Amino acid sequence: MEPRTVKIHDCEFSTYIFEEEIIARINILAEQIDEDYADKQPLFLAVLNGSFMFVSDLLKRVSVPCEISFIRLKSYQDMHSTGKVKELLGLTEDIRGRHVVVLEDIVDTGHTVHGLLQQLKEHNPASVEIATLLMKPECLQHQIEVKYVARSIPNDFVVGYGLDYNGLGRNLRDIYKIVS
Ligand code: 5GP
Ligand code: MG
Ligand code: MG
Repeated sequence: MEPRTVKIHDCEFSTYIFEEEIIARINILAEQIDEDYADKQPLFLAVLNGSFMFVSDLLKRVSVPCEISFIRLKSYQDMHSTGKVKELLGLTEDIRGRHVVVLEDIVDTGHTVHGLLQQLKEHNPASVEIATLLMKPECLQHQIEVKYVARSIPNDFVVGYGLDYNGLGRNLRDIYKIVS
């Protein structure tokens, strides 16, 4: 695939993970989830905004009966994580006794997912797992188990396929990384 570059705000990004690879990896996740959640009727909680493309491509490949709902966390500015627990918005389902799968765009330091897990566990779900499109293992600062990871990446800032840089870039069909 021919490399492409794109300028977003003040930064240049170049193609990094093409859509074909993303979809191939999502197919594997969908198979694992179908196996693990047969008879469990999971509730998927998709974390907006960044997960929207991942959620769509993943869940149309999942065939177990399931529910899908969308939540939001107070969003994060620029390229650095803040470390504060983000407020959980939009949880309208009763998750008590449910098998919950959180769908995230990316796990970086893990602050976001760690804080979210704490908040969800207060509602006594039967189980909670995380499925993420991307993960930066070398940045993780919390002891959390991320059961489903489509693709691990090094500590590079990426955009596209749902992920933004200060609002722009979510609509790109491939994932781009910042040119250093
Ligand atoms: P964490 O709390 O794990 O440090 O960060 C998770 C959140 O930070 C993600 O949901 C995402 O919004 C943002 N984030 C972390 N790394 C990146 C990145 O490389 N690109 C973009 N666009 N967002 C990122
Ligand atoms: Mg996110
Ligand atoms: Mg963002």
